[in-house]
Amino acid sequence: MNPGSAGETSAVRLVPLGGLGEFGLNALALEWEEHLLLLDAGVLFPPAEMPGVDSIVPDFQYIAERASRLRGILLTHGHEDHIGALSFALQAAPAPVYGSRLTLGFARKRLQERGVHADLRTLVPGQAVEIGPFRVHPIRVAHSVLDSLALAIETPAGVVLASGDFKIDATAPPDERTDVDSLSEWGDRGVLALLSDSTNVEQPGLTGGEEAVVPAFEQVLDRTRGRVLVSCFATSIPRIQRVADLAVRARRPVSFLGRRMLDNAEVALDLGLLRLSEGARVSPASLGGDAGGRAVVFVSGSQGEPLSALSMISLGEHRDVAAGPGDTVVLSARAIPGNERTVSRLISNLFRLGCDVVHPGTAKVHVSGHGNRDDLVELLRRVRPRYLVPVHGEYRMLAQHARLAVEAGLLSDQVLVAEDGDVLRLSARGARREPRVGAGRVLLDRGASEVEDVLVRDRRHLSSEGIVVPIVVVDRQTGHLESPPEIVTRGIVDADEAADLAEEAGRLLAGAMDGRPVEERLDAGLTRERVRDELRRFYKRRTQRRPMVIPVVMEV
Ligand SMILES: [Zn+2]
Ligand SMILES: [Zn+2]
Repeated sequence: MNPGSAGETSAVRLVPLGGLGEFGLNALALEWEEHLLLLDAGVLFPPAEMPGVDSIVPDFQYIAERASRLRGILLTHGHEDHIGALSFALQAAPAPVYGSRLTLGFARKRLQERGVHADLRTLVPGQAVEIGPFRVHPIRVAHSVLDSLALAIETPAGVVLASGDFKIDATAPPDERTDVDSLSEWGDRGVLALLSDSTNVEQPGLTGGEEAVVPAFEQVLDRTRGRVLVSCFATSIPRIQRVADLAVRARRPVSFLGRRMLDNAEVALDLGLLRLSEGARVSPASLGGDAGGRAVVFVSGSQGEPLSALSMISLGEHRDVAAGPGDTVVLSARAIPGNERTVSRLISNLFRLGCDVVHPGTAKVHVSGHGNRDDLVELLRRVRPRYLVPVHGEYRMLAQHARLAVEAGLLSDQVLVAEDGDVLRLSARGARREPRVGAGRVLLDRGASEVEDVLVRDRRHLSSEGIVVPIVVVDRQTGHLESPPEIVTRGIVDADEAADLAEEAGRLLAGAMDGRPVEERLDAGLTRERVRDELRRFYKRRTQRRPMVIPVVMEV
């Protein structure tokens, strides 16, 4: 071997840009010399404390600065937390996009919506592709969306194996099962680094298979006289297939409701990955008719998203579908952390309509797509990597995954816990950390334009503390008040009390304004400052709140 390539240069660098420290936002740069691959480009769903923020994408500055080196974007599977930010990655650095058929099918829709063009190249399990100096081997894994892949990436410095989201699920049909033999073969060949999903590291045992949900759905279909509305992730094709099969057997028509649900069902039907005869389907518009009365309807909105079909139904405001006594709604998904209260409110609203609601807390209508502890250990034992890098999860999951690996026999220096922006340099000689790089996130509103942090902070402040708008009219010549200050407030105390307080604040302000030296009175900036200070202090003292004070000073 030429001495240059075996030396310091022959190292692979891993730069997580998102997903290491949060659920979602998955994106990781893999570099060897002047060549770069991006693994996944996902979104993060915003928590409730970010009002007006619709989605969050990784800051792709790092790849934008290295755009000419980007050889490809690899997608492990079609969940939004892995493909939802693809258009932004492509805008930062255009490159061919690789993924399985279904993943690219979902991605194509998203790109069309955003008007972004891409060179999409299909990955097939077992068929390696050359991408620059890399050789990428797709490996089929079981997950809640079909056509999910782990990727073994051969680099001149060694093999990096990314698990993607996975569970082992040995009982799944052959085309849905994790290809454990391939994983073991990679173990035999030698793997420098394994990047492994940490999502379910707090769950003991092995994750169950999709089949586990069938009995609960059978019972629901049996006992429900009216419609059965099933809300799951629109990507959960294996589950949709199983429930649709039960529906057909029970001679119930099947329908899809909500834009995402319809779009994804179309993509999967076109590819033959969802099998449902044309005659078994009814359109959402005809659900009001006789046949629709016993339909099984797949509805988007399992997370209680405000404008989703299920939310509209729960409020009795959906155009095509009303739910009521005799109907059952099945929430066939777990609430993403942070969404629990929204989902709980949704369930209450559905009960209020008189329908029955079945959810993962009351029946086995959901199994996770992520591997539990025993799945994670099995992957480790098969791949036997030199280094493990826990990925996908909050820091507590990454840390526990590291401990689990040590319990399973790895040495502690073989486990590298990293966070977004950390840089790991791995080679045959060992691993070390390099200086961190910028890895932020970009907040987007509904129109996908950027929302500044300060705007979100202001909205949060307004929502928790309220607002005070004092209107002060002063004489331009003397700086004295022309009339008593007028004070408008919102969101601080109830209306009666607010009026009394505003009056009192006005009197106090008038006194404070007139007692000031002339230089200060004649300076509009100082006047505004003074008004703000006085009112902040007043409302803090009287209400224990810190409302936003926006003085309006008019000179006449
Ligand atoms: Zn996933
Ligand atoms: Zn994921």
